[in-house]
Amino acid sequence: MVRGLMHRHVAIIGSGPAGFYCAEALCKADPEIRIDIIDRLPTPYGLVRSGVAPDHAGTKNVWRVFARTAKREQVRFLGNVEVGRDVSVAELESVYDAVVLALGVTEDRKLGVEGEDLPGVYGSRAISAWYNGHPDFEGLDPELRGPGIAVIGNGNVAVDIVRVLSRTPEEMATTDVTDYAMKKIVGSDYTDVHMVGRRGPVQASFTTAELRELGDMRQTVAVVDPAHLPESFSVPDPKQQKKMEKIVDTLREYSTNDPASKPRRLHLRFFSSPVRILGDDHVTGIELMGTRLEGDRAVPTGETTILEVGTVITAIGYLAKPLEGVPVAKWGTCFENQDGHIRDGLWAVGWAKRGPSGVIATNRKDSTEVAERILEALAGVEPKAGARELDALLASRGARVVDFDGWERIDAAEIGAAPEGAPRRKLTSLQAMLKALE
Ligand code: NAP
Repeated sequence: MVRGLMHRHVAIIGSGPAGFYCAEALCKADPEIRIDIIDRLPTPYGLVRSGVAPDHAGTKNVWRVFARTAKREQVRFLGNVEVGRDVSVAELESVYDAVVLALGVTEDRKLGVEGEDLPGVYGSRAISAWYNGHPDFEGLDPELRGPGIAVIGNGNVAVDIVRVLSRTPEEMATTDVTDYAMKKIVGSDYTDVHMVGRRGPVQASFTTAELRELGDMRQTVAVVDPAHLPESFSVPDPKQQKKMEKIVDTLREYSTNDPASKPRRLHLRFFSSPVRILGDDHVTGIELMGTRLEGDRAVPTGETTILEVGTVITAIGYLAKPLEGVPVAKWGTCFENQDGHIRDGLWAVGWAKRGPSGVIATNRKDSTEVAERILEALAGVEPKAGARELDALLASRGARVVDFDGWERIDAAEIGAAPEGAPRRKLTSLQAMLKALE
């Protein structure tokens, strides 16, 4: 047998948490396995680098765990390789024993209301990738126009965005937020940020720690209308009851804050569903329909309010970006799969598998379970050639692959350019990243 054909070869598309946890689980279970982690960017770590808010450095530190996996002898990182451009899924399937989609779901879900296409409306993916220095959004230059900004959604992504929009440069000085984002945030004229939930506080999906951070911002005071807070409530799960009690208690504290106590206000609005975005050539407002709950569902009350805002940011979830030959599930939030299995030899992990839910740690168990299924499915199957054939294919197409050493050079360049107190100054264009390799 040709040397190298003894090993199983797995290609993982996407180098975020789900992909790395899957790689680690495969390596642990099969010391002979060979894994190629492919990413379209020269930089690894997916949402850890470009989705997690810059002021959540503790969360971002999980990259250290992934770097250890990347440095295993069994693992290669192939950055700057785009599946769909440099190589197709079908080609990967033909040369690897298993191909794993770990590429997340990256399309902003739409509100589906009039005015959504006006300039001044942005999706959360674009905004968070912009302030995090993702090269696709370097040139976004969003207009953060006052007097208010509406952020639609009551999840942790909405909370991240309202917090970053509300912080001062001093508060962000120890983070890796991009200079251009901070400059924009400081130079914009908005005084009010509105986080808009279509249901009530007890139905919100943000978590207590994240909500509490909103009460500790230097130039922005969090305010809530006490009329939106329940006197009492009960949910079936006792754990959930405790969690929601903490949320409501925190909101009750915010409801006593003086709105004039700081230069900017963050309004936590509930029972408000967007029905129209107003403006002729740019957003000038958003019309919200009041809601009440029927069971867990929001139903319109018929009463509308207009918020005067110059920018609307939707943070209402994500949809899968279609990938040639891989069916998207009919609800759009992930790829069609059964417990991670898409078809023989093709698998999904992370958001590509289950849709945009869960925290980074959720992927550990989830990816490990899929890794076990992959290995079970491979038992007794004749191994394919893997890396060798992919390398030949990429070379024939002139692809400029950035390996993990290459990433470490980019990393060193970013760390070397860090302003005082900050962990790094990110390179935000592909060109600058590739230049750092020279
Ligand atoms: P999410 O938690 O599912 O929240 C989405 C929000 O959008 C919900 O409040 C939802 O309201 C609302 N929404 C959906 N469609 C809407 C519409 N048409 N009109 C108005 N509101 C609408 O999702 P996410 O915030 O994008 O977060 C994704 C995952 O990443 C979550 O698991 C989250 O916890 C995680 N994450 C964690 C952190 C952290 O740990 N710090 C940070 C960021 C993200 P309904 O509930 O009424 O549907």
